[in-house]
Formats: sequence, C-alpha cells, structure tokens
Amino acid sequence: MITLKEALKLPKEEIAALREDLKRRIGERGELNAYVALDESGEGVPLLIKDNIQVKGWNVTAASNILQGYVAPYDATVIEKIRGAGLAPFGRANMDEFAMGSSTETSFYGKTLNPHDPERVPGGSSGGSAAAVGGGVAIAALGSDTGGSIRQPAAFCGIVGMKPTYGRVSRWGLGAYSSSLDQIGPMTQNVEDAAILYDIISGHDRRDSTSADIDYTPVTPNLDPGRKLTIAVVDNYIADASPEVQKAYAAATEALEEAGHTIVHKEMMGAKYDIAAYYIVATAEASANLSRYDGIRYGNRAEGVDSLSELYLKTRSEGFGEEVKRRILLGSFVLSSGYYDAYYLKAQRVRHLIKEEFETIFEEADLILSPVAPTPAFRFGEMADPLQMYLSDAYTIGVNLAGLPAISLPILKTAEGLPVGLQLIGRHFDEQTLFDGALGLEKAVAYEH
Ligand code: GLN
Repeated sequence: MITLKEALKLPKEEIAALREDLKRRIGERGELNAYVALDESGEGVPLLIKDNIQVKGWNVTAASNILQGYVAPYDATVIEKIRGAGLAPFGRANMDEFAMGSSTETSFYGKTLNPHDPERVPGGSSGGSAAAVGGGVAIAALGSDTGGSIRQPAAFCGIVGMKPTYGRVSRWGLGAYSSSLDQIGPMTQNVEDAAILYDIISGHDRRDSTSADIDYTPVTPNLDPGRKLTIAVVDNYIADASPEVQKAYAAATEALEEAGHTIVHKEMMGAKYDIAAYYIVATAEASANLSRYDGIRYGNRAEGVDSLSELYLKTRSEGFGEEVKRRILLGSFVLSSGYYDAYYLKAQRVRHLIKEEFETIFEEADLILSPVAPTPAFRFGEMADPLQMYLSDAYTIGVNLAGLPAISLPILKTAEGLPVGLQLIGRHFDEQTLFDGALGLEKAVAYEH
C-alpha cells in the first residue's frame, strides 16, 4: 500500500484512481469487517476515521446501537484539519462500543478480524483502524486512545500507533469516553507517516478547554533518527509478559544499544496500581459522559413507553451493550456517596503517584521502552472474563493516567507470524524526541511487514 507521505504528493487524477483502487481492496477483504461504512463523496487522500469522531453528515455511532440514526451536525476539529491538508474522511472504522474494550468484540457491527490471523482479535478499541492499515485496506487512520486503544491494536496488527500528550490534539468532536484520558492520534504504516499525520491534527483549539494553549512546532521537518538518546528499560515490569514479548523487548534493547543510545535500567511500581486507578477514573467519567444518551437528544429512542423515566430506562437498556452497562454501573458505584472517598479520591491520588514516578525516570532518561500488551494478539473469546481483559491493559494505561505521549511500533513476528509491538514513552509535549527515538528504533529493528 502507498504510504501517506507518497499519497500526499499525488496529483488530483491519481488520487481519484487511488480511491478506486482502495475501494476494490476493501471489497476483496470484506471479511475483516474493518470498515463499517464508506463515503466516496470526498476528493482528497482517503483516510479511515474511528467511528467516535464527528464527520459532518455521517451516522457516527461509536459502534453502539444507541447511536444508530444519529447524524453528526459538524466536523470534529481533527476532521477540519485533515480536510485542510488534502485528506478526506473515507469511511468509518469499526471499534469497541464507546471505545470500551481491548478486542473490538463489543461492537454493535460485529467483530473485526486480525489481518494476520482470522482466529484472533485485532485489539481494541481502535481495532477497525488497525486491521485496515495492517491488512492493506487503508493508507492511514485516526484512532482514539483512552487507555491504550491506539497503541495496543497497532501492536496486534503490525502497524504504528501514536498517542499524543494529553492536550496536544483537540478533543472537540470526539465522542467522550473518559475526558481526562482521551486523545485522538494517528495509526499508520510507519513512523514517518505517524509524524506527518500527527503534525496535521495537532495544535491549540479554543473550542476544547483542555487543549494546551502552547506554541506548536511541527515535528516532521526536524525528524532525526540518528539522535543519540538515553532510554530507560524497566526490567521488573516485563517479568509478567509472555516469552514472545520478552524476546521483542530484549531484541529492541539490543538494537537501541547497538544504534548508540544509552540504556539505563529502572524499576517501576508495576501495573496493579495502574489498572485499579484507571478502571475507577475511566468508568467514573464514562458514567457521567454517557448520561447524555437518553433517547431524547441523540439516535435511538425506545417505543411503547408510558412515562419519561420508562423512556430513559428502555432506551438505555436496549441501546447499550453489556460491557458499556457494566462500566456505567462501576462508574456510578465509585462516585456514589460513601464510596467516593474510598475509590474515586484514592484513585486520583494513585494517579498522581504514577505521574510522579514517570517524572522521576524522565529526570534521567529521554524515553522509556515498554511492552504494549502482555501477549501478541489473543484468540476470539479467550478473554471472556471482563477482569482478565482489563488486566491485559496493564502496560498502556499508566501513560494515559500520566498524560504522556507514547508510540507503539512493530518489532518482530512470532514463529506463528503474529506481530509483536513495543512502545516508547516520552516527556510531556516532547513529541519530537519521541518520534526521533521511534524512527531510530524502526530503523534498528528493520521489521519485515
Ligand atoms: N482497553 C481500555 C478500556 O477498555 C482502553 C480503551 C481505550 O483506550 N479507549 O477502557
């Protein structure tokens, strides 16, 4: 598949041919179920959009039954920006309902397949975006990452996925899951394309009050894969990862050392605090954010009801899937009086400690090398227990709790041909160093697609 960098240089007529070619490929790989809708009306370089980002005139649904029939009345800021850069939203990508999940199994539209093995999940929640780019049916895509939803599917599908610093990319027009954690980011075939797309979507936006009001310097013109950096490896952290992930970690560490970077060994608290804090904060915020889907204002409305409260109840009971309901219940519980201090407030304190721990490491290191997931892509149904699925987010959610930027890139393939990705984590708003390091690592490991 043509890269984003190449596609952006094509003359208009060739872009039209590219769109035709892409449409044919999407048809040929329909079994992936990565796209849930196509829109051929645009004229720019086609970009796949996760189904929780507002595109004017589209039925944007966050892969939920409750939003069937809702038509987005405006473009998200990132969509305005991509249009301005010669790109056009080309289709809606499948995802876990309301971005809650790690496997794209909770989608109203059915599951998406991993392009490397149809028996396995593509990861989630941006599984459609990752499977499409990894399966050669998208040039690039936009995803969103609240607790790993860009990085983990990228790792499972053998592509690059980047989560910007919290506040770097406007969330205006992103369907809110957990507002203090959500960020939109690029999902691409390689690191340079990720930098290009990241530059296009970044910058201050007064319509998003959490958007950082600081000067934005594009990273692409200054990319330097030869830059020598200090990179922290966290040996105690990876002890719980599968042998394949440990192998990738060792290979990447060695490649970085050979490329002339300085490796420093660090310890971290470990994931158990991250998981507890994340699943309290994220569900608490989700329970508030999802209260707007009441059958009155958006999408589906239950029929045959006698009262307003029955309308709310029936609409929400019919409209939300099981996992979303579980999260709303969890979130309402941790915010309820009597439990607020014990859970929510404590989780906020732990969140602070996690942030401090990262900051201490960044006093010495420019970047941290970390696994993305404990295993390569797992099989459908393998994580039937919700808690088990939550535990698999161990390596990605600390980054969101701390608001840091991170990038996942493919390192090697297992004997079964499954990609294994790792992530680099950077300092707040230091995406330049993150991309420089990632380019260097990409070159050093020379992953074969
Ligand atoms: N898997 C995590 C969750 O289910 C992260 C999802 C995300 O980043 N949107 O909440």
